[in-house]
Amino acid sequence: MALRPRYDAVVIGSGAGGSAAAWRLCERGLKVLLLEAGPRFEPSKDYRLHLPDWERQGLPARPGSQARISFAEFGRLDPSERELRSWNAVSGPLVRGEARETMGPGYWHVLGVGGSTLGFVGEAHRLHPQAMKMHTRFATGCDWPLSYAELEPYYDLCERLIGVAGPAAQGARWRSSPFPMPAHPFSPSARRLVAAGRSLGMAWEANSRAALSAVHDGRPACNYCGNCSRGCPIGDKGSADVTFIRKAERSGRLTIRADSRVVRMHAARDGRIASVEYIARKASHRVETPLLVLAAGAVQTPRILLANRNRDHPRGLANASGQVGRNFMETLFWSSTGFHPDLANSHVGLPSDAICWDFNGPDAIPGVVGGCRFNSAVQEIGLVGPIAYASQVVKGFGASLKEGVRNRFGRCLTVGAMGEFLPNEATFVDLDPDEQDEFGMPLPRIHSHLGPQEVRRLRFMATQARRLLKEAGVTELVAEYGAWDLFSATHVCGTCRMGESGSRSVVDAHGRSHDHPNLYITDASVFPSTGGGESPSLTIEALAVRAADDMTGARRGRAVAQGIGAVAPARRV
Ligand SMILES: Cc1cc2nc3c(=O)[nH]c(=O)nc-3n(C[C@H](O)[C@H](O)[C@H](O)COP(=O)(O)OP(=O)(O)OC[C@H]3O[C@@H](n4cnc5c(N)ncnc54)[C@H](O)[C@@H]3O)c2cc1C
Ligand code: SF4
Repeated sequence: MALRPRYDAVVIGSGAGGSAAAWRLCERGLKVLLLEAGPRFEPSKDYRLHLPDWERQGLPARPGSQARISFAEFGRLDPSERELRSWNAVSGPLVRGEARETMGPGYWHVLGVGGSTLGFVGEAHRLHPQAMKMHTRFATGCDWPLSYAELEPYYDLCERLIGVAGPAAQGARWRSSPFPMPAHPFSPSARRLVAAGRSLGMAWEANSRAALSAVHDGRPACNYCGNCSRGCPIGDKGSADVTFIRKAERSGRLTIRADSRVVRMHAARDGRIASVEYIARKASHRVETPLLVLAAGAVQTPRILLANRNRDHPRGLANASGQVGRNFMETLFWSSTGFHPDLANSHVGLPSDAICWDFNGPDAIPGVVGGCRFNSAVQEIGLVGPIAYASQVVKGFGASLKEGVRNRFGRCLTVGAMGEFLPNEATFVDLDPDEQDEFGMPLPRIHSHLGPQEVRRLRFMATQARRLLKEAGVTELVAEYGAWDLFSATHVCGTCRMGESGSRSVVDAHGRSHDHPNLYITDASVFPSTGGGESPSLTIEALAVRAADDMTGARRGRAVAQGIGAVAPARRV
């Protein structure tokens, strides 16, 4: 007689999607093994905001917390669009060649328990309902196989678990109940943007933020240090480690193995994924599972599937459609920063605390399909300390540099913008034919190109951001960064898209593979479209919890995986 596997489910990856799925499965009574390639961070020790050198690094790297990624060419730059180039007052143009380049390391995602949410800013957004119907309504991109109404109860559940702070209402994003936390007060720079927006007829409001405005579930309220991307040392930011994972661990049913990288998935004859192999402390381990949740992120998930090709699956696992790795969508971003002589303390406050959704609907920007949003962004671009001013805003050396920083510090105002990125044929993730990691697995390789609609949208974002700064009283622009010449991968998605058709998509509307009945994908790869600049984590989490309900049969009266015992009913969080 075959032995029952030790765990009811194995989850690969503990970021937004893996942790939310693991929590829901534990809550339903399943024993879950969570395999995480990166280390476990200790916020109060690892995040360095209390030390004198706090500004010298972003989220601190730990051994194994950064993935090696390979990049193909990102496309040539058209000199006639040079008004969209990235530059700052200290360095001048950041890209001097004729092709787009990566921004910093190029891929900013974190390997670690909590995944990329460890270093995320913590905007918590629902998608615009119309952005989920791009093909039907606007004859471009791809529809989601589910509606906003189907996802709404899961948004609501995740917001309550995390403790999202937000305004009374958010226009097209209708809500079945109010945000669980009141909105945060505006920072000095947000107040300027709200006022300037008002005189231009733009409606600015409090952003919805995964940062606590009051004590919640044993976590303290935000202290407005402004450094969310460096890791929140007090744990009020709603990263996955202190929300879904902490709650799943309290159930007593979650086993986490950090520093454990999955390298192989084994499919049985009946199509089920029978076991996975992972490397921990240089040794290889194999674990059987009745149910497998893959949530390694929009780049590593297709990499694992493509690298696991064999005679029965010559294009890789879950890839009968040939769509694994296709439809990659990068982050279409813009920011303009200016010096404002009458502003003070712009470095203080919660990053991205104010937002304007006026142009976020897919038809809201004149002459372009796909929307965008604007937000306060001075902390997001890192202008929170003197080193940042000395490297972006104030030129010079010695005494003149010191004086310049003293005169300008806290007086910069930034408008950020993010927009829709429509999938295109030249933009995808595949395996690098030449480069492998230390375990012999080919590196994932990113190909990404802006389409003509993206350039038009970017131009609108830049023009509007500059208008706003001028209206706010900025006397001089000091820095601008954008996707025209810099590839940025903060919000990436789409490489295992969900859909009804097994020939055009990788998973169904619940994240279940069309090819392997016990395999679910619950990370950013399943997005059919990006939305008009919304941050993705809340949607990833809502989809993951919904997928877990499908796995445990909560929606269909029976569990998907053979060997799963009785499933508990859901409780309110
Ligand atoms: C600087 C920055 C700011 C951001 N700000 C926001 C924001 O304000 N709001 C928002 O909603 N989103 C934001 N994002 C995006 C957000 O962090 C991601 O969209 C989200 O975390 C993606 O979730 P995921 O589950 O798809 O992947 P991830 O969170 O990246 O999780 C994937 C996990 O899988 C693990 N993994 C990978 N390969 C393996 C393997 N072989 N074996 C085992 N484990 C593996 C990784 O270590 C990782 O922990 C930001 C991102 C960055 C980089
Ligand atoms: S601003 Fe608030 S949420 Fe962000 S790191 Fe500081 S305390 Fe945490």
